[in-house]
Amino acid sequence: MSFLELRSLVKNFGGLRAVDNFSLSLEEGSVNALVGPNGCGKSTLFNLITGALRPDSGHVFFKGEDITGLAPHLIARRGIGRKFQVPAIFDELTARENLVVAARGAVRQTEIADIEALIRLSDVAAREAGELAHGQKQWLEIGMLLAQAPSLILLDEPTAGMTEAETRATAELILTINQQQKVTILVIEHDMAFIQYLGCPLHVMSKGRILKSGSFADIRRDPEVRALYFGTHEALNHA
Ligand code: ADP
Ligand code: MG
Repeated sequence: MSFLELRSLVKNFGGLRAVDNFSLSLEEGSVNALVGPNGCGKSTLFNLITGALRPDSGHVFFKGEDITGLAPHLIARRGIGRKFQVPAIFDELTARENLVVAARGAVRQTEIADIEALIRLSDVAAREAGELAHGQKQWLEIGMLLAQAPSLILLDEPTAGMTEAETRATAELILTINQQQKVTILVIEHDMAFIQYLGCPLHVMSKGRILKSGSFADIRRDPEVRALYFGTHEALNHA
């Protein structure tokens, strides 16, 4: 069995089927990206993995165990960390204090310093988090995830609102985290330049299920994906 295995997940909201018989397997140590138009069910899928929502049917297996429908804190304790779109940091605490609070003893002081270096915040670790630039806040939240020593991290649009330089730095950060910390990563993203830079397998979601999986080059040539991405056609062309 794979590290994370999503099997035939279904989630309905009233008459709307947000996640429709969705299956995906992730190998340990891999980076994968999930893309798709607004409302196609990406965030709902993350909610099913983290236990924020319970699927109507289907299963989530993590490290060979069925974790479907477990409480979110129990799923987090098994090693799944999730980053939301809007950074959930404590503005009045320093960047370092945010990391320490997030760690709750999961990592040591020296490891906190390593995380600060990794997320490029060593120089501003003593500053109040509320004073950091938008991109730095996003990285701090990624650092807070790492402080909990997860083995799988789910990132929901981590480059939202970032400049081009910050976006590229975030792609580098994700690859470094994957290599240095041996963390498996699943990232939801819209920005095609970011995804191309990541160079990881890509899964295109439409109406609650996977339309196509493949490399960036494969996906970019695919007529069905191009039709789906009419609005971002240019993005696919120029990325
Ligand atoms: P994405 O993250 O791909 O933009 P979402 O997973 O947020 O999409 O949403 C998928 C669909 O489910 C959308 O039509 C959205 O309006 C709907 N939806 C999401 N969460 C809820 C909810 N808690 N209650 C009702 N409808 C929801
Ligand atoms: Mg979403």
